[in-house]
Amino acid sequence: MSFAELNLIPALLKGITDCGYTTPTPVQAKAIPEALAGRDILASAQTGTGKTAAFMLPALQLMSQPVAKRRGAPRVLVLTPTRELAGQILDATRTFGRHINPRYALLLGGMPYREQFKSLQASPDLVVGTPGRLVDHLNRGSLDLSRLEILVLDEADRMLDMGFKEDLEKIIAGAPAKRQTLFFTATLNRTMADMAKRMLREPVRIDIAGSKMTLEAIEQRLHVTDNRLHKSKLLQHLVADQDINQAIIFSATKRDADVLARELSAQGHRAAALHGDMNQAARNRTLRDLRQGRIKLLVATDVAARGIDVTTITHVINFDLPMFAEDYVHRIGRTGRAGASGTAISFASAAEGAALKRIERYIGQTLPQQVIAGLEPTRRLDTRPARNSRGPARNNRPQKAGEWKGRGESRGNKDFPAKPRTERKGPVIEYRTRRPEGRTSTPAGR
Ligand code: AMP
Repeated sequence: MSFAELNLIPALLKGITDCGYTTPTPVQAKAIPEALAGRDILASAQTGTGKTAAFMLPALQLMSQPVAKRRGAPRVLVLTPTRELAGQILDATRTFGRHINPRYALLLGGMPYREQFKSLQASPDLVVGTPGRLVDHLNRGSLDLSRLEILVLDEADRMLDMGFKEDLEKIIAGAPAKRQTLFFTATLNRTMADMAKRMLREPVRIDIAGSKMTLEAIEQRLHVTDNRLHKSKLLQHLVADQDINQAIIFSATKRDADVLARELSAQGHRAAALHGDMNQAARNRTLRDLRQGRIKLLVATDVAARGIDVTTITHVINFDLPMFAEDYVHRIGRTGRAGASGTAISFASAAEGAALKRIERYIGQTLPQQVIAGLEPTRRLDTRPARNSRGPARNNRPQKAGEWKGRGESRGNKDFPAKPRTERKGPVIEYRTRRPEGRTSTPAGR
């Protein structure tokens, strides 16, 4: 299928060609014609599947059509969980939408209000923003959603995860009932499905196994480690690899991100940290330096690194394993972007045995273990499954790479790993109900 078959107008087809896209991705092929026909959409598609163009191209097409009475209110609103994602949506829109060139306002938490008031007074057609700040603007009366024609929720699951449910409800209450809603989520649990049901009218359901696209292009490896010092030594050894063009190194805490970035810089690498405690200007600067190749090694936490779309990243190193298995997929999806291949290397200490098991169960693969001469672990990792564990992992059926069906498709509870049980055997991992940077973090703070 080609883009020309999707009923897109010539100005958009030209923009797409300028971007170098030749064939629509599966989510684009399915969503674009339906959205252009005015249907609501409920799409499960992860980052890396081309979902941004899947919702922005129909939105741009709508904005290319003049309306009689605009009265300064936006026609399209895109809600997204983090400032980085919002920036990337806008960057992508400017690229393939360059021949439409809509007036836009970017309403992000943690950014000065003055610019935002100014851009709202300029009657934007498009508003892209994070939920908290959008609610602030609604409360202040500076944002009017009464003329909204398309509402997009990007990474809706992550917005709920980050505690934006109430804000989303308020925004939806402020939008006209007669609108088109494009609802994109990486995962769809019962809460999400309930919310989608209330928001959408007879939606077209699109299910894209995004993980398949990202995981297939990525070589995954595992190093068993004894302790933090062992991890540091392994990291030092691995980052000397000439094959690394750029790498993101994930740490569990913001403090560790700073410490590791300092250690790597002291070893002579172009390294920097990226986490939610940094102010927005510093985060923007770091991301710009990464894009322009001035940073080779970026040490990041999960929330801060979410949505980073830099095609020159060849390696992801999990210095610490993520607590949630789906974060593993999000992390390694930072490499292998836009058709490139990538390498994902994970360190797992004894305390991370259970987290490793959850990841392997989730992706349906066993991570191949590697050992570096002189840096061998002294212990084996205990990855025994918990007694009474539920779900498909119990049969431990090895699956072929890329065969993974996606989160929860074959599980009772689609969204969360089996709850910890007191009788759990093996290393005890503390479950949390919030992400490490939680609601108090800055990514989309007000
Ligand atoms: P997204 O899932 O929207 O974050 O997109 C992931 C990456 O795929 C981005 O680098 C896009 O520029 C790229 N991309 C999106 N659509 C296409 C396409 N049809 N052909 C090639 N690359 C694409």
